[in-house]
Amino acid sequence: MVDADITPQFTAFKDALARRFLAQPGIADADAESDALDDYTSYLASEVWPSLAPSIRAPTYESRSEVPDVDSLSLNTTPASFADTLISCGIAEDPDAALDFLRKTLSDYIADATAPPPVWSKTRTSECEICEREVPLTYHHLIPRQVHAKVLKKGWHPQAILNSVAWLCRPCHSVVHQVSSNEELARSYYTVEMLLQREDIQRWRKYASKQRWGLRRGCRGPH
Ligand SMILES: [Zn+2]
Ligand SMILES: [Zn+2]
Repeated sequence: MVDADITPQFTAFKDALARRFLAQPGIADADAESDALDDYTSYLASEVWPSLAPSIRAPTYESRSEVPDVDSLSLNTTPASFADTLISCGIAEDPDAALDFLRKTLSDYIADATAPPPVWSKTRTSECEICEREVPLTYHHLIPRQVHAKVLKKGWHPQAILNSVAWLCRPCHSVVHQVSSNEELARSYYTVEMLLQREDIQRWRKYASKQRWGLRRGCRGPH
């Protein structure tokens, strides 16, 4: 597979396959010191993925109600190489058992792919996420509320991540809004990592982290 085909769903499928492999007695022990687990799962996931229905290759939290029931899938287009490999490494006794293994893997994978977005967006930190100082924090809507309607209309982001926030000290928060418009924040800087990739934010961060506006963790400062 070329890199462009590697979607988050493909990665989740491959991870589900790796977990199923690890759960097999003997397989994990034998492979502990090699890349065999990665090699096997990369190969098998790439073999099987193109044979899966598009609806199985694209589930998300938003589309969770449209994903077909795994038990109702025929899986009869699964390449023979999948069963052959599972049989040769002792995971399945016959092609039916191999398809059963695949069905369980798909069920794990769909559960992961349709899980709600991570809770990090609502988790309060004790340090500013830009300058890392332990100071009073404000919350910054990574996708500013003023542009939520436009974001949904244009399909820039799914509803589920609209309320992602970052905890920023007031000075850092102000800088973020100074260097970027709400629309630009929503489209190009909707994670802390993206903000930290900006050169101006990096320069600010270097500066701010040296300022004594607050107490750094573990230091006792003047009253
Ligand atoms: Zn800060
Ligand atoms: Zn803000």
